[in-house]
Amino acid sequence: MIAGIHRPAVVKVNLGAIRQNIENEIKNLQPEQKLFAVVKANGYGHGAVPVAKTALKAGASGFCVAILDEALELRRADIVKPILVLGVVSPEYAPIAAANDISLTVPSLEWLKKAEKELENTDLQLKIHLGIDSGMGRIGFYEDEEFTEANDFLKDNPHFFVEGMFCHFASADSAVDTYFQKQVAKFNHMKSLLKIKPKWIHCDNTAASIFGKDIPSDIVRYGIGIYGLNPSSNPSSPDLKSNVELKPALSFVSELTEVKTIHQGDGVGYGSTFVADEDTIIGTVPVGYADGWIRHFQGFKVKVGDSYCPIVGRICMDQFMVKMPKKMPVGTKVVLISDKPEDPNNIKAAADYVDTIHYEVACLLSDRLPRVYYED
Ligand SMILES: *Cc1c(COP(=O)(O)O)cnc(C)c1O
Repeated sequence: MIAGIHRPAVVKVNLGAIRQNIENEIKNLQPEQKLFAVVKANGYGHGAVPVAKTALKAGASGFCVAILDEALELRRADIVKPILVLGVVSPEYAPIAAANDISLTVPSLEWLKKAEKELENTDLQLKIHLGIDSGMGRIGFYEDEEFTEANDFLKDNPHFFVEGMFCHFASADSAVDTYFQKQVAKFNHMKSLLKIKPKWIHCDNTAASIFGKDIPSDIVRYGIGIYGLNPSSNPSSPDLKSNVELKPALSFVSELTEVKTIHQGDGVGYGSTFVADEDTIIGTVPVGYADGWIRHFQGFKVKVGDSYCPIVGRICMDQFMVKMPKKMPVGTKVVLISDKPEDPNNIKAAADYVDTIHYEVACLLSDRLPRVYYED
């Protein structure tokens, strides 16, 4: 999708906040621990390359992404530090990864065998991290026997360099840590089966690190914390307290493109879900669900000038309307998402309103919205 540079609707990203968030986290780590910045999904909607370049300045030792194309994007941007693809890449692309010095996650013995076939007639060596399914039920080795066979397969195998072994937590953001401890135990058990020595053994995501879970992890895969958001974002419960200061980096701003007073009996939007019962001032904002501003935001209050105004009528694909307490001119600033945690339209409040988590709200912001970078 093309970015709308001639429309007043942008996602603003404070790279200064991103830098501080990473620097704060690095201070929180043990001296030998490394921070890998997780910039998958276009840097959680913030822009992968600008975030990655800022992360480098702040001291990140490497990067994690979800898919091979995201890793290649970073390489094309001249980023040379280690990059790990966290998802499963088809083994047929092992040579592309190896040629670009990109590390892949190994989910199974079958995957290894297929990748070996692809690498056989090349002089390439692929860097791999053994994925362990310690209770996420997603990807990675699960049974002892298969894991042991994979270890035997890898011993003195010239096609692979075992750079890592890792698992992923399902509930590191929860105050109750029974399941977390179960996952730790399973991971430790899998570690005890190792016959090779991975360079880095890691399990921490943002939550495991900033809530002081204190488990050994050579690398912290730091994702949501980079963007200044608290990973414990369940609508029903208050955030767990972070040991690290978090400063949100993202705001979403637009402007009024039209203002008018509609009269009693006239509706707003498809299906006329809002009908004026008296003269009502309506403002139009040029943002819609095609921008990731989903229809569930109907009723949410965005800041128009100095007033918080409810979205009335259904959100259209490219526009929505607000009910205003007073006339304001076309061009008045509209803040859909504020980067100030104390504002009622902060990203957690927005996510709560549509019954999801801020990760999702940020990721959904589409490519049609230009990202504007500044440092503050
Ligand atoms: C996305 C992801 C992370 C980062 O998680 P945050 O909660 O954003 O810190 C870490 N590890 C894996 C395997 C992931 O998929």
